Amino acid sequence: MSFKYYIKTFGCAMNFSDSERIASFLENYKFKLTQKIEKADLVIFNTCGVRQMAEDRVYGQTHNLQKKIPTIKIVLTGCVAMRPDVQKRLATKVDLFCQISNFNKDILPLLEEIQNKKQNNNSIKNIISTKDKKTISNQENIAYLATYPKYSNKFSANIPIMTGCNNFCAYCVVPYARGREVSRSAEEILTEIKKLIKNNYREIILLGQNVNSYQGTYQDKKINFSKLLKLVNSIPGNFWIRFVSSHPKDMTDDLITTITKLKKVCECVHLPIQAGDNMILKKMNRKYTRQHYLELIKKIKKSFQKNKPNKIFAITSDIIVGFPSETKSQFKKSAEVMLDVNYDMVYFGQFSPRPGTTAWNMKDNISKKEKVRREKFLNEILKKTCLENNRKYLDKTFTVLIKKKKNNFYYGETRTLKNVKLPIPKNTSHLIGNFAKIKITKANIWNLEGEINL
Ligand code: SF4
Repeated sequence: MSFKYYIKTFGCAMNFSDSERIASFLENYKFKLTQKIEKADLVIFNTCGVRQMAEDRVYGQTHNLQKKIPTIKIVLTGCVAMRPDVQKRLATKVDLFCQISNFNKDILPLLEEIQNKKQNNNSIKNIISTKDKKTISNQENIAYLATYPKYSNKFSANIPIMTGCNNFCAYCVVPYARGREVSRSAEEILTEIKKLIKNNYREIILLGQNVNSYQGTYQDKKINFSKLLKLVNSIPGNFWIRFVSSHPKDMTDDLITTITKLKKVCECVHLPIQAGDNMILKKMNRKYTRQHYLELIKKIKKSFQKNKPNKIFAITSDIIVGFPSETKSQFKKSAEVMLDVNYDMVYFGQFSPRPGTTAWNMKDNISKKEKVRREKFLNEILKKTCLENNRKYLDKTFTVLIKKKKNNFYYGETRTLKNVKLPIPKNTSHLIGNFAKIKITKANIWNLEGEINL
């Protein structure tokens, strides 16, 4: 008899990567993936606690599902699963709350119950199994990453190199949800990547909440992120390397040189600033000033110009608008930084107080309307810098990784993470998952258009 599972993932790339490991684990227990939630014996919600909206969707979907199919088994894991208020709210709807790092152990009794129910046709009572995260050691916290994942993409793979975070930014749930930073050994990471390259993967994305504080080991010696990048870069094959996310306080000169020199590392640096005002940065507990951040950007730009003089590079960032007490003049500092850096992309977030974080106890005194206004204001700056930067691509030819096709067009990405749209050429073989040389013929705000350069 076969059993079916369904996974709904919320949030960031790290959660999606974790879900690939959950899938692989369940398939080892003979569970099969279904795309139809109502056909599943087991439903996993891999949750995100970064914004209230993502959390509300979990409440809504859990409630509806349990109402529709009361016998279905529901597991909550990810960022909000261990929060007492969430467990209290969903106690009668969810069968198991567990930390992602303990999923492989906590899920076993439930898998057995599902299998027994099918075989014996007994009814199952709801169970709630939790484990106090404080009892999980660092090694246990990272052990689940050794599970070989069921990759959801055939040419681009997310490889977690570490988990957890030590930084305790005032607004962020990650250090509470995932615990302290723990890094995988370089050997384990390299083995995973080598397998992928053998299978013609073209894009390797190194993941962590704070990749540039990676502290792993290689041949029993401690190594940092710069060394790890060099090791990954030395794997033979036709692929490129991305990494996300970096913290400005850990962006050393050595790392900047490595990033801007290595051939396989893409010319795109994502360096979140979060706010342009020093007082707000302090309240956010970001541990750097605007001046320090801008100094880093200067160094990165200079280093790209020196080490890859013929390549266009991109700088991207994250900015939160409406952090508690952020005045209009403090907000303007974020706008000034944007004008100074000329970002290729910025991911904006309107401040949303999260339970358990330091900012939860701050007065959320910026109205929703004002947060929306501030985001729109910054977005207008972004549109200008994006278009200006995108025009540099015109009439030049770039390597593009073709990612999907829709109607009569292919869609792909450059090394600098620019979206490229091109008409599907006649007489070409299947391009998805391959690199193609594309001549850029049009620069828009959010994407480029081009044609294949045969
Ligand atoms: S660095 Fe800050 S924002 Fe990033 S995961 Fe850690 S606490 Fe959260």
